[in-house]
Amino acid sequence: MINPAKTCQPIGAMYAALGIKGCLPHSHGAQGCCAYHRSTLTRHYKEPISASSSSFTEGASVFGGQANLLQAINNIFSVYEPDVIAVHTTCLSETIGDDLPQIFNKAIKDQIVPEGKTVFGASTPSYIGSHVTGFSNMVKAMAALAQPSDNKNGTINIIPGWVEPSDMEELKRLAALIGAKIMMFPDTSGVLDAPLTGTYSMFPGGGTPIDKIKDAGSASGTLALGEWCSADAARLLDTKCKVPCSILDMPFGLQATDRFIDALRTIAGSSVPDEISIERGKLVDMMSDMHQYFYGKKVAIAGDPDQLIAMTEFLVSIDMCPVHIVTGTPGKKFEKRIRELTGEMDCEVNVKAKGDLFLLHQWIKNEPVDLLIGNTYCKYIARDEDLPFVRWGFPILDRQGHQHFPTVGYTGGLRLLEKILSVLLDRKDRDDPEEVFELVL
Ligand code: SF4
Repeated sequence: MINPAKTCQPIGAMYAALGIKGCLPHSHGAQGCCAYHRSTLTRHYKEPISASSSSFTEGASVFGGQANLLQAINNIFSVYEPDVIAVHTTCLSETIGDDLPQIFNKAIKDQIVPEGKTVFGASTPSYIGSHVTGFSNMVKAMAALAQPSDNKNGTINIIPGWVEPSDMEELKRLAALIGAKIMMFPDTSGVLDAPLTGTYSMFPGGGTPIDKIKDAGSASGTLALGEWCSADAARLLDTKCKVPCSILDMPFGLQATDRFIDALRTIAGSSVPDEISIERGKLVDMMSDMHQYFYGKKVAIAGDPDQLIAMTEFLVSIDMCPVHIVTGTPGKKFEKRIRELTGEMDCEVNVKAKGDLFLLHQWIKNEPVDLLIGNTYCKYIARDEDLPFVRWGFPILDRQGHQHFPTVGYTGGLRLLEKILSVLLDRKDRDDPEEVFELVL
């Protein structure tokens, strides 16, 4: 791998943990790992990311990190007073073989976990998988906190996957409009898009309360958005707590949003309200108005599997041709799904799971495209190849706003189309000779 299209597992675990109310993510490893993970999230979300570290030195690296973690749990509850500590491992503690459940049991036995507080964790070795795997592993660890219950409460668990805080807010808004009673976890809205109030709060008001997550076994069902980010947690709730689950695509674009809305409507036993139908109609109208500019345009995309699947379907639906598609996260079924979605297109499609941005760049050199969609690291390819470029995915380090403007749902679809059309027409305006440079496009 030359220029990875992924980053390391604990970053995903840290992001997921921040979606629990009053939670301090804890990195069980060396300080350098924790600093890297925090800074990556800070650069993307433009918010301070609080996280603690077991601060391994040579001794812990040889003899194991139990003493460091016990000391850390004691210090964290004494000094910062979180409701929850969500521990994730790193390459170092995984290689040593530290046993998190055994250390947590010892912490409880030694009475360093105060009454009513929670410590749990996920194994996130970064030498396999990607940040998406780490996110999934932490969400699965949350699901493992749930207990079976015979008293189903009519709630639906929604596991949103790795989407922006604004996307989580939008999913909750759509569910509320339909009248579905939901419990979303994790939920970073109100945490990583918190307002500037002039008063620093280490634990902003958002996030899912841990008691609600522990009660997820009482739900009547689970909607998991994204096979890679959310399915493992949903299946665990199914097997452990007998909460049936449906795995849907992330609701980016028209069709995936239709399926999400239909699932919510079915669960809630209601019909789709006019407000949502109007939003859908606006998206269909915009797709139709813009179609002349999109038709036949070739696109290269890099990102994470769940996002790429929904985006590919959306691009195909507006008659664009996603011809080069790369994710850094492993999984052959990703390639199969993309081939299914692009099967009707007239052109050859290059797709690679566990690929890298170097490969994507080579494909673009061999077969040029009209548009590039991906995270900030793609800007080097966009610059080299002089391509219109839409930033979308994780991480976006050189632009702002993504944490505030959703791209899920019908209104999110409007935003995606507007971003795509703007870069295409900006390019046309830049390149058109004087005689065809038009006021109205
Ligand atoms: S890859 Fe491993 S060692 Fe490197 S920052 Fe991530 S967890 Fe730490």
